This record gives sequence, structure tokens and C-alpha cells, in this order.
Amino acid sequence: MERYPMLEMNLNILYDNTKVVTDLCNKNGINVAGIIKGFGGIPDGAKEMIKGGCTQIGSSRIEQLKDLKEMGIDIPLLLVRIPMESEIEDVIKYSDISLISEKGTLILLNAEAKKQNKVYKIILMYDLGDLREGVFTKEELLDLALYVENKLDNIELYGVGSNLSCYGSVAPTTKNLSELAFAAEKIEEKIDRKLNIVSGGGTTTLPLLVTGGVPNKINHLRLGESINNTQDLPLYWNCNIEGLNPDIFVLKAQIVEQNEKPTHPIGELMVNAFGEHAQYEDRGIRKRAIVALGNQDVGDCFKLIPKDKNIKVVGASSDHTILDIEDCVNQYKLGDIIEFNVLYQAMLFASLSKYVYKKLIK
Ligand SMILES: *Cc1c(COP(=O)(O)O)cnc(C)c1O
Repeated sequence: MERYPMLEMNLNILYDNTKVVTDLCNKNGINVAGIIKGFGGIPDGAKEMIKGGCTQIGSSRIEQLKDLKEMGIDIPLLLVRIPMESEIEDVIKYSDISLISEKGTLILLNAEAKKQNKVYKIILMYDLGDLREGVFTKEELLDLALYVENKLDNIELYGVGSNLSCYGSVAPTTKNLSELAFAAEKIEEKIDRKLNIVSGGGTTTLPLLVTGGVPNKINHLRLGESINNTQDLPLYWNCNIEGLNPDIFVLKAQIVEQNEKPTHPIGELMVNAFGEHAQYEDRGIRKRAIVALGNQDVGDCFKLIPKDKNIKVVGASSDHTILDIEDCVNQYKLGDIIEFNVLYQAMLFASLSKYVYKKLIK
């Protein structure tokens, strides 16, 4: 008997989506680092992304890259979270390139690379206004680039990059990416050679690529979501790319209670399971189901999209999710399985949870 909740991951669709995105990028002179952190770094997923044309695989978590390195995957591995001091040894051992914004970190990496007898590649991050990681001014960026180039024997200045619409919700535009391109050219003048990588961001840069607004100098993107969670593109960025299939992940949960109840709680209202003062709309008595799946598994139940469009997610505690099934044509009963598509947060939580069974479809 199948166990639930279950996250199905369709590797064929993952491959197809990767191919669509890498073809589009390659046509525009851009290589793709396939980012695997959104699905917990599942190695079979990484392998499909390599087959689909990614030239690097990246994650924010060195543990996920370590798994790939130890499996003998021989494509460059990119750490996309700026490294912490406590992981420097692993960073040098299990990744080939990382994104960097601090001189102090560079010094540690250089010493560790020397110890491990390696030359380690880095991409300097330039903050274009989103205010997450990155060197803030062009002057500082130039200084740091020259410092790496001239002073750190075991570090190779491999490129520059930027990150947008993560903290500050700042959209990638031709204007801000041109500043990255300009900074890259300035560095190249100073070091008298070309940089290998000018990395123009993640999925949020893809809509700009589709409309032709990414400057030519940008030759690298770090893409996860636009490959593995493609419903976000039309939903958040009004961007439709032909051939992308949103059904890589399907989360399945089992009905453990099915009945009719009022829609407004009865009694004196305090806070819910998460200490929040929730709002409840009184819609009378309605048919509903509880599935054995909760915010512990998905982060936020409202990041679930029921495949049956007549099902409405009403709310959830850690282990139970309540669904309104009044308008469904299908007569759901105890023990039935409900299927959901997952938005990014739910994909992230479900793929990492040991309480969610995984099934790879190929
Ligand atoms: C997560 C991450 C990415 C990839 O983001 P997606 O939205 O999954 O494409 C790229 N760059 C950095 C620095 C990241 O942390």
C-alpha cells in the first residue's frame, strides 16, 4: 500500500523543462546553473538538470552539493549562499565555485584552498539595490576584484554576479543589469583579461530575457524555480514560456475526516494553532474534508493548489489541512487521495520533510 502524504517528482518533466529553459538561454548567449535547493537537492533531479543542459549545478546548502560530489558528479558545483566561516573546509572540498561578498571570507577560503592544494573559483556579488548580499559600490567591487586577482594565490576571480528581487523586491531591468555589465567591463580593463562569468540573477531575470532586455554582457543565470516550479512565472511575473510544464511535483494527501460543519467557529475566539488572530467567514454549513498533511509539511497551506479546481483550502494546523469540498462534482469520501500542485514554499518544505514520502516518476 502507498504511504501518504506523498510527493511525486516527475523526472521526465524536469528534464523537458530544463531543456526548454537552457535552449532559450543558450540562444541568448547564456549558460545556466541549475539550482536544486528548491527541491531539497534530490540528486536524481540534479542529474536530469545536467542532462537537460545545465552547465553547473548550484545550491545554497553545501550539504546538498556534498551529496553530488560524493556521487562522483563531475559538473562544476556552485554554492549560491555566501559561505559562513564554520563551513569553509566543506565549501572548498565539495563545491567548485561560490558567490562572495566579503573580503574576510575570501581570506579564509584562500587559506583553506591552499591547505587542500586547490585553486578555488569565486564570483563577486554586486548589490544593485535589492539590499541582500553583495558589495554595495562599484569602487569597492573593483578594489575587491583587484585584491583577489593580485593577492590571493589560491582563489581565481571567475566572475561577477548580482541578485535581485529576493529581499528588496527590486525587478531586474535593462538599467540595473547594465550596471553589472559595466562593472564587469571595468574589472576586465583593470585585470586585462575577460571574466568567465557575468551572472545576471535567478528566475526573476528570465522574464526580462524573454522580452530581450538582458544586456549582452550577461552570460550566466542561476535558475531553479523557472525550471522546477513553472507556475510561478505566469502567476508572479506575467511571463509565459511555451513548453514549460508545471506538473513536476504533485503532493498527495489522504482524507482522514469527511463531513459537514459550520464555517464559522463556535465559542469565544482566541488565537489559532500558530498564535494568530485568524478571520473566519460565515458561509453556513458546508461539506469539508480533512487531509493528513499540515503546515509542518508545506510551510503554508495556501501554497497548495488543489488539482480539483472546485476544492478550496480553508486552513491548516501543523498536521491537518481543512478543505472545502462543497462545490465538488466528485463525491470525496474517507480514505480518498487529494492531489495538489505546490508553489515554491510548499515544494521546498515537502521535499525536505522526512514525513513526506517521495516517489520519483520516470
Ligand atoms: C536561490 C538562488 C537562486 C535561484 O533562484 P530561483 O528563484 O530558484 O531561480 C539564484 N541565486 C541565488 C543567490 C539564490 O540564492
